[in-house]
Amino acid sequence: MRRRAFIRALGAAVVSVSGVPSLADALAAGDRRDGRMPALFVGHGSPMNAIEDNAFSRGWARVGAALGRPRAILCISAHWQTRGVMVTAMERPRTIHDFYGFPEELHRMAYPAPGSPETAEATRSEVTSAPVALDREWGLDHGAWSVLARMFPRADVPVVQMSLDATRPPAWHYELGRELRGLRDRGVLVLGSGNIVHNLRRVTRQQPASGFDWAVEFDLRVKELIDRGDHRGVVDYEALGAAARLSVPTNEHYLPLLYALAVKDESEAVTYFNDATVMGSISMRSLLIR
Ligand code: ZN
Repeated sequence: MRRRAFIRALGAAVVSVSGVPSLADALAAGDRRDGRMPALFVGHGSPMNAIEDNAFSRGWARVGAALGRPRAILCISAHWQTRGVMVTAMERPRTIHDFYGFPEELHRMAYPAPGSPETAEATRSEVTSAPVALDREWGLDHGAWSVLARMFPRADVPVVQMSLDATRPPAWHYELGRELRGLRDRGVLVLGSGNIVHNLRRVTRQQPASGFDWAVEFDLRVKELIDRGDHRGVVDYEALGAAARLSVPTNEHYLPLLYALAVKDESEAVTYFNDATVMGSISMRSLLIR
């Protein structure tokens, strides 16, 4: 690490000892003079959060209301994995109900936000390291709309989704994310939607509001790395051993975190919300970067 970066990281560590800025402080900070949009990673958990009034959906509503109005949203969701990178470019993205066995109310729900061919084109021009294909078939999957329905309930902010290239390693995703930084200066909200800990095989109803030891351990290890500004450590999560293997059995829910961290400037702060582990093996921890 370069000396200046090291001193900054040290400063951040000291701040975290004496109390990181609270979410309320971060939200009260108002719009930045440079017009740059904040960035987010959201733990989305169950699709039911789209229609349930609970602590998580209220957290999303609160953050959305305080964010101001982005020009557009670029969402990187765990639920769109492709070969190669795609970005949705239709005028009217459909609401995709990519789950089953949930109440009729959820299956009927629509999130009619417009698309933004202009933002899709801007995304394609920012990314130079890989070809980005314009997609006109996908739409909004529940990783995007279940969160956005609470965050921007009027559905009046245009939304574009970018896919996860499932053939690529974590470091590649982080580097691709770096190329999206300029979109923030154009008023685009970069939103990663997944879960830091996501192991559906281990989900248990016996622990609705707590996590297994390994899930809590991994969630906190990742938080510590983020607090230290050690993004390489977050990318190399597999080095965290058994807790990582259990928490990230497949990494599609973890990768959206890397995109949110990748668009962060060194001078910006990370604040956490919805930081709880539920049903044993799902971490809802969410990050606001501004
Ligand atoms: Zn999911």
